[in-house]
Order: sequence, then structure tokens, then C-alpha cells
Amino acid sequence: MVLQYDGLVIDFPLVPPGDRLVVSATSFVDFERCPESANARFRGEYGPPSRPSFVGGLAHRIFARHLQHGPIGPKEFEQVCKEEIGGTPSLNLRMGELGLKPSQIPALVEETRGLYDRFVKFPMDGFKGAEVSLEVEPQADVVLRGRVDAVFDDAGRVRLVDWKTGRVGGVDDQLGFYSLLWALERGVLPTAVEAISVKTGERQRYEPSLETVTALAGRVASMVTTLRTGWAEGTDLERVGGPWCTFCPLLEECPEGRAATAVMATS
Ligand code: SF4
Repeated sequence: MVLQYDGLVIDFPLVPPGDRLVVSATSFVDFERCPESANARFRGEYGPPSRPSFVGGLAHRIFARHLQHGPIGPKEFEQVCKEEIGGTPSLNLRMGELGLKPSQIPALVEETRGLYDRFVKFPMDGFKGAEVSLEVEPQADVVLRGRVDAVFDDAGRVRLVDWKTGRVGGVDDQLGFYSLLWALERGVLPTAVEAISVKTGERQRYEPSLETVTALAGRVASMVTTLRTGWAEGTDLERVGGPWCTFCPLLEECPEGRAATAVMATS
């Protein structure tokens, strides 16, 4: 199926009909690493929560608040963190899953404050919007959805930014997914998508082209086809072990995952 905008034509290949499928950057990246792991998440099975991901989630809320409402003073910082934890369902849920007690909040706040102190040192020239939600349905019942941490206007050229609170790592697929999503929803390619680590200062820049977003659309369509075919036939998908197995909900019963984590434990 060819999607046409002013001067931008993206071919999103046809996929077999099936249940409504919402693909996010996370599920796409998961699928590219290990299809069956992503499949488990579509079934509603999630891996164990982690403290770093909780702090990362809280820091992202604080960054968005800063961008939307201005700097947060040192004296009000703890109270703002508590408000965000209390008012953000996903943080509330993860706090319960991690078994975190109110007495542990001050340590989490200090960790978040350290990230915030680094975050405010980054230049914010051209800032246009925080936590920008994007959603498109390139084919019936195939929804691509995501939320971009920040959008910048660099002299008329759009740049999307994804804040990281750890190392940047291999993020091309994630940044490529945001490029595709932006192009499909806004009808224009962003000039660049960047992953910026607030913790280490690393910055990875991805400059999409019509060719790269079209190729990525093909990989997303292939993912949808594989998932729907597996669901229709009642078969599991391919399993590919790696460092990501640590947070996979299937680890306990997965030989590939146990082998991968055993190798990691000895290296
Ligand atoms: S444990 Fe690893 S190999 Fe097994 S399904 Fe999960 S991610 Fe894939």
C-alpha cells in the first residue's frame, strides 16, 4: 500500500488481515531482537521491573515537566518527584511491583536529582514540544504508536530527541521507528532523530532518508505478518538469545535464554 503526502511517498507493504495490532518502538525493537519475546508481550506477559527503569521513568517525567513548565528548584524537587510518582499510573504500578517502600523514596529522588542536574546543562535552543504523541494506522487494524521525548526546530528543520538515562547502545531501530512514525503522521521526514544520554553525555544521531524509512516500513510490515501468521497457526516464533533475555518474561522456561544468561554470567 502506497501512502502519499505532499512530496513524500512511502510504501507500507500489505499485511494479512487479523486482530488489531498496536506496534510501538519498544515492541518493534523487541521483535527485531527476539520475535518470541515480543510475542509474549503482545500476550500481556511482561518481564521483571527494574530499579533503573523506575528511576529512568521518573526522570523522564521530570524532564518533561521542566520543558513544559520551567526549571524545578532544589527545595521543591522532592515534592515534585512525589507528585509525579503519585500522578503517573505506570510509575505507581512499577513502585508496587518493585516492592519499594516510602522510606526508599528519598534515595530514588537523589538519583533522579543527579540526572536532572545534568539534563539542565543541555542546550534547549529551538525546543518546540515535550512528550509528543504520534499515532498512525497505515493499514486497517495496524496501528503504529509512539511518544517522542522532545521536538526541536533547528532553523525550520525538525529534530526529534529521545533522552536516555543510561548508556545509548544500539538505538538505530528505535530512532528509525520514530522517523517512520513522524513521516507517516506529519507527511514530512524529520531532519534528524537523536538519542542523548543524560548520564554519560553520549549522543547518537540518525538522519533518515526516504529509502531508510521505506525499508523500515517493510520491516514493520514483516513483523505484523510474522505475528499474525504465528497467531493464526498457533505456533511460537523464533527465539534469539542475548543480553535482553535478562528482562524477558519467558526466561525461566526458555533454553535459549538460559544458555545466553549463563554465558553472560561467566564472561
Ligand atoms: S529468554 Fe531470550 S531467547 Fe528466550 S524468548 Fe526471551 S528473549 Fe527470546
